[in-house]
Amino acid sequence: MEPLLDRLGRPLETLRISITDRCNFRCVYCMPKEVFGRDYAFLERTALLSFEEIARTARLFAQLGVTTVRITGGEPLVRRNVERLIAQLKEIRLAGSAGGRGLELALTTNGALLPKLAQPLKDAGLDRITVSLDSVDDATFRSLNDVDFSVERVLDGIDAAAEAGLPVKVNAVVKRGVNDGEQLVQIAERFRGTGHVLRFIEYMDVGHTNGWRLDDVVSADEIVKTIGARWPLEPAGTHRPDETAKRWRYADGAGEIGVIASVTQPFCGGCSRARLSAEGKLYTCLFGVKGHDLRGPLRLGASDEELAELLRSVWGRRTDRYSELRTAETATLPKVEMSYIGG
Ligand code: SAM
Ligand code: SF4
Ligand code: SF4
Repeated sequence: MEPLLDRLGRPLETLRISITDRCNFRCVYCMPKEVFGRDYAFLERTALLSFEEIARTARLFAQLGVTTVRITGGEPLVRRNVERLIAQLKEIRLAGSAGGRGLELALTTNGALLPKLAQPLKDAGLDRITVSLDSVDDATFRSLNDVDFSVERVLDGIDAAAEAGLPVKVNAVVKRGVNDGEQLVQIAERFRGTGHVLRFIEYMDVGHTNGWRLDDVVSADEIVKTIGARWPLEPAGTHRPDETAKRWRYADGAGEIGVIASVTQPFCGGCSRARLSAEGKLYTCLFGVKGHDLRGPLRLGASDEELAELLRSVWGRRTDRYSELRTAETATLPKVEMSYIGG
C-alpha cells in the first residue's frame, strides 16, 4: 500500500481519540474552575460519537496506515464502559497485515479510576497506559488538580495498572514556579528504578483559557540540567522518527526519563498524528482552530469508501506546523481546548 502523505511528506500513523470532554479533575492549566464551572456547556450525550461510530472511523484510519490509537479526553475513564470500546478497537486489523496484527492501543488518564478499571482495560486488549502526575508533593498536586485529589491515590492507580500487566509511562507537565526546581528531583526520585518511564512535558499554549505565558515554560534543557545535577544523565537515542519525547538514561542504570520539548524544540517535521474529538471532528494539529466534521457524514449514511476519501483528502491537504511557527502573538489566537481534544 502506498503510504498516505500530507503536503509536507508526513505519513499518517497515529490517531488520538478523545471520547469525552468531561473530567473529574480541574487542573488549573487545563480546565480552570472559573471557566469549566457549573454553567459550562459540555457536549450532550447524543453529540458524542458512539463506540460503534468510533470503531468504524478507527477501522478506516487503520486502512489508511494508522497503526496506533491513543484514547484520551477530558478524562477517558469517566466515560461509561470504556473497556467495551477497547475491546471493539482490538478487533481491528492493520492494512496489509494478512491475517494480521491489530492496532496498538494506548490510553492517557489522570489515574483516579484506575484501581477499578486497570484490569478490565487490560483484559479488553489495552496495550499500554500513560498516567498524568505533575508532582509528588501532595499540597502542590492537590492545588494543581484543584479537586483535592491526593498523590497517594494516583500512585494506587499506577500500581493497579502495573499489577494488571500494563506498561506504564508517567507524564508531568512542568510550570515555572509551581513544580519546577526541587520538585523535579522529587518526582524523578519517586520513579527512578521502578521501570515506569517518567516524561516531562513543556507547558504549552493550547486552548485559550489557561492564560499561558512564555515565562511559565520550563525548557527541556533546564529540566534535564536540574535532574542531571542530582543523577547524571546520558542521551538514550530515539526509537522512531515521529517520537515526541527525547530520551535520557540515568548513568547509574536506574532507567530513563523523557522530555517533550514541544515549545523549545518543536517536532512538527515528524508529526504523524491525527486527532478526533469526542463529537467527531477531525483535527490535523493540536493547535487547530477548526476541525473537519466526520459525525455528519457518519450519521447521514456515507459509505466506507466515501468516508475514506474524506480522510484521505483532509490528510493530503495538511500543512500544519504550529509549534515551528509559534510566537508570543500566536499564543493568543483562538485554538481548541486541551480538555476537548486531549493532547
Ligand atoms: N485527563 C487525561 C490526563 O490528564 O491524562 C487525558 C487528557 S489530558 C488533556 C492529556 C495530557 O495533556 C495530560 O498529560 C495533561 O497533563 C496534558 N496537558 C493539559 N494541558 C496542558 C498544557 N497546557 N501543556 C502541556 N500539557 C498539557
Ligand atoms: Fe482533566 Fe486531564 Fe485536563 Fe487534568 S489534564 S483537567 S485530568 S483532562
Ligand atoms: Fe504536530 Fe501541530 Fe504539534 Fe506540530 S504543532 S507537532 S503539527 S500537533
